[in-house]
Amino acid sequence: MKFAIQSRNDEHSNELMARARTYLTDFGLVWDEESPDIVISIGGDGTLLHAFHRYREQLSTVAFVGIHTGHLGFYADWKPAEIEKLVISISKKDFEVIEYPLLEATINFKKNDEQNIYLALNESTIKSPDVTLVMDVELNNSHFERFRGDGLCMSTPSGSTAYNKALGGAVIHPSFEAIQLTEMASINNRVFRTVGASLVLPAHHKCVLKPVKAADFMVTIDHIQLSLKDVKSIQYRVANEKVRFARFRPFPFWKRVHDSFIDNDV
Ligand code: NAP
Repeated sequence: MKFAIQSRNDEHSNELMARARTYLTDFGLVWDEESPDIVISIGGDGTLLHAFHRYREQLSTVAFVGIHTGHLGFYADWKPAEIEKLVISISKKDFEVIEYPLLEATINFKKNDEQNIYLALNESTIKSPDVTLVMDVELNNSHFERFRGDGLCMSTPSGSTAYNKALGGAVIHPSFEAIQLTEMASINNRVFRTVGASLVLPAHHKCVLKPVKAADFMVTIDHIQLSLKDVKSIQYRVANEKVRFARFRPFPFWKRVHDSFIDNDV
């Protein structure tokens, strides 16, 4: 089996990376950064986002696992003290692979009908720097609303605990193949109207955002920021691709939510 390690690059994460690399090589595994079977992320959830985007062309063959060197993460749920246990399980292939849904974002430009397609593990957001974001929101080719406000966030189920949650969106179990559209400070008064609630779209539904007038947009795909001009539309849907995580022991999603946000001493 071939492995790669993504470190957050702080001293503790790099030290653990060196130990994991030595242990795994001693067990006969091969360090291969180009085409690994398993990618070990050491740092936080943010580190796993970087690992995901580094290997996004190989999602059907790569399985990810995360060790947290800070607080417990949603993707990074192994403790540094468990590294030996983890290495033994990896070398014995003593794990199952579970898959989580991803978000596909297709950005269409006015110029030459250009199109860029992205995959997000957490979410994509859209804001209009300096001015109110004004976007027509279409669901399955029908006009739904004209949004005015700070921005919009379309998240995956596993990303629902990140930015989406801070915006008041629902936490969604990753076994649902769905995406969630959440508002950022919408303008709602006697003149302007939005639904004022998060919308959860199933797979095969699509949401298209269309700028009402020419503007610059700031679009994020997880930690990646794009400054865009001449945007014609942005289409969001559940991606065909999935992300694969190596699971070595049961750690139910709701327990991770509890331990991350409520209390991890009980
Ligand atoms: P960052 O600003 O350095 O970190 C944002 C925080 O989000 C970190 O504490 C990170 O955990 C946590 N996080 C990431 N994915 C998560 C998940 N699925 N569930 C729960 N928490 C999660 O940015 P970054 O490290 O480059 O990560 C980019 C992410 O930041 C975006 O995808 C977005 O979700 C999030 N973000 C959140 C807010 C907000 O909550 N108001 C605003 C902007 C962006 P770790 O400490 O374990 O890395």
